[in-house]
Amino acid sequence: YYNSETILYLNGEYVKAAEAKMDFYSQSFHYGYSVFEGIRSYRTVSGETKIFKAKEHYDRLQRSAELVNLPYHWTTEELTAVTYEVLKLNNLQDAYIRPVVYAPANMSFVQNEQSFLVIEVWAMQPFLGDKLLRIMTSSFERPNPKAFKIEAKAAGHYVNSILASQEAKAKGFDEALLLDMNGNAAEAPGANLFYEKDGKLFTPAKGNILPGITRATVFEICAASGIEVEEKFFTTDELKQADAAFYCGTAAEVIGFDSLDDYKFPLKWEESVSRQIQLAYKNLVVEKARESQRPQKQETQS
Ligand code: PMP
Repeated sequence: YYNSETILYLNGEYVKAAEAKMDFYSQSFHYGYSVFEGIRSYRTVSGETKIFKAKEHYDRLQRSAELVNLPYHWTTEELTAVTYEVLKLNNLQDAYIRPVVYAPANMSFVQNEQSFLVIEVWAMQPFLGDKLLRIMTSSFERPNPKAFKIEAKAAGHYVNSILASQEAKAKGFDEALLLDMNGNAAEAPGANLFYEKDGKLFTPAKGNILPGITRATVFEICAASGIEVEEKFFTTDELKQADAAFYCGTAAEVIGFDSLDDYKFPLKWEESVSRQIQLAYKNLVVEKARESQRPQKQETQS
């Protein structure tokens, strides 16, 4: 993630990552009490570096901080400008950007008057291909929204993500699918879920998920392409009747499923509407004009 030359932004200054210090008595370190974002920048087709949905991400960072009572005294505009500067200082175009808002030294549970901000960036590896994911229904549920501010991207929630992901990998799967407290399909440890049936997309309704910015982008792509999409609660029994399915998130982009537990999704990925969404997303992030069409199969059917 960093070497001796890497620069990060820490409380108003650009400093070497290797020399940056954090307080070991921070409430964030002890209790997972911090909020963060996962953002990406891309080298666009014009050669320029663009942060994808910077406003949406920094607005969500602020919302996350407010939801868990961490003081927030930055603006989206200011942090967007700072982020471009950090990218430039590290000579990065295709990067992952990780801002974290964290608390000062405090071993009690009371609210602080102060909070701190770090922005780290690192090179994003080029996309590793379109290998479809083998997914396992996790034995871990997503955090109950009555126990957590589920819509805050809060660090502590991610112990749940780590456990679910580790369990799936230990059992030989690529990734986990977590259910919500009512037994409905919710999301991945770090991505949202969609499934496709008869050319239409479905995704879990809000309430028990992190409403992703990529999820919202999929809705935009669907609206622009005339693809129907519906939010609703559904079980894995219903998901196992689907033609295709995918996860989407800033890091994962759009990534298709091979299978869920013992169910193999029957539609060839190349022929799916989901694949069209994947291509449209890839074009969007690099600002390439879209030539996306609905699959041939759909047209000959009607
Ligand atoms: N759900 C969870 C639990 C996540 O951590 C993420 C990644 N931030 C997502 C969904 C997808 O969100 P986004 O599209 O905003 O990256």
